[in-house]
Amino acid sequence: MTYAVKELFLTLQGEGVQSGSRAVFLRFAGCNLWSGREQDRAAAQCTFCDTDFVGTDGPGGGKFAGAEALADAVESEWGQGEEDRLVVITGGEPMLQLDSDLVEALHERGFRVAIETNGTLPVAADLDWVCVSPKAGTQVVQRSGDELKLVWPQPGIDPGELESWDFAHFLVQPMDCAQREAAIEAAVTLAMARPKWKLSLQSHKLLGLP
Ligand code: SF4
Repeated sequence: MTYAVKELFLTLQGEGVQSGSRAVFLRFAGCNLWSGREQDRAAAQCTFCDTDFVGTDGPGGGKFAGAEALADAVESEWGQGEEDRLVVITGGEPMLQLDSDLVEALHERGFRVAIETNGTLPVAADLDWVCVSPKAGTQVVQRSGDELKLVWPQPGIDPGELESWDFAHFLVQPMDCAQREAAIEAAVTLAMARPKWKLSLQSHKLLGLP
């Protein structure tokens, strides 16, 4: 299989429970909830995306001819050091491309494999960390994992309904939008009202990391 990768880079995980962890980010091109073109945003299923996932022209991006080649590139980004290797696979929607061959090739190189997905496609079974970020109006089929990350506010989503899903951690994260202060206030209000939810901030943006 040929994988289309928007970008591949070493950074610190900025969000969620693993925030602050050194990680290689592998951003696959393409999403099933938006084309990535601004002219399509208003009619898309997901309208608040803050990520460029179109094409393969980002740092470290490109077309990779197979799982071994892509896993080699991830390992090269990590550099020296065998311990605590972590790769975060994101997008776009990573489950459009991620398969067991790639997970296996990354495991062979000593990586823990984490995914950040919108949950509309079932995830591969052999992942080490599953983060699902549900989008209003979509059918979320992946209702279990390690981390449920709710970008907030989202009209049409009831946090109380999500609390029955099978996740170890429930995180609420202010939407990065023009009404940023109102979004922060709404996220804080939710975390204060429902203690199951913890506040998650996008620390990489505060720090100027990619
Ligand atoms: S599902 Fe994620 S990657 Fe796709 S458009 Fe929405 S925020 Fe962006």
